[in-house]
Amino acid sequence: MAELVFFSGTMDCGKSTLALQMDHNHRARGRTGLVLTKHDRAGEAVISSRLGLSREATEVGDDLDLWDLVVEQATHGRAVQYLICDEAQFYTPQQVEQLARIVDEMDIDVYAFGITADFRTELFPGSRRLIELADRTQVPQVEALCWCGRRATHNARVVDGHMVVEGEQVVVGDTAGAPAGQVEYEVLCRRHYMRRMTAHAARAQAGSPDLLPFDLDLCPLPGPASHG
Ligand SMILES: [Zn+2]
Repeated sequence: MAELVFFSGTMDCGKSTLALQMDHNHRARGRTGLVLTKHDRAGEAVISSRLGLSREATEVGDDLDLWDLVVEQATHGRAVQYLICDEAQFYTPQQVEQLARIVDEMDIDVYAFGITADFRTELFPGSRRLIELADRTQVPQVEALCWCGRRATHNARVVDGHMVVEGEQVVVGDTAGAPAGQVEYEVLCRRHYMRRMTAHAARAQAGSPDLLPFDLDLCPLPGPASHG
């Protein structure tokens, strides 16, 4: 029985790496599939991972009908046994419904990978529909970490060094630094997201003479040295 599986998490938890590995594993067993993405950080029609891997992929435009795409492959004699769908948070809800139909009516496995929530902590429409429809939702085993060492659960948007909580839902950027004036992202634990305490802000406060002791000591590193 084919399945629709949604691998969801924050940025930086290795979803694109996992997507590429999944494609490799299936191809190594002689299966043929389609690899799709939308707004990858490296540009159009490519899946890139922060570990340096990349491969070409079909870019999913808003108007692309994924059901038609798979039917067209079959019409040309190209077997499709699975789909890898990276950056699935950016797919439209209709495209997610097309994926579910592909699983149910064509018996094709669909593995979707995406960020659950945006920089305002709100679900992306594509992710919401995937959570609603998927046979399974899985969290990748590798955890992204906040600067404090806790598990990162939120994506913060940073513009010119300052965390922002308002703006367009989709502005493509990376977590690895951006030129001045451009959007970048940082993964944070909820506590530091709520306090808008990015790594940069924490460093600035640590060096500030009017620092109050409770400002920095709210989030000790987990482990034996911690006092809770
Ligand atoms: Zn933190």
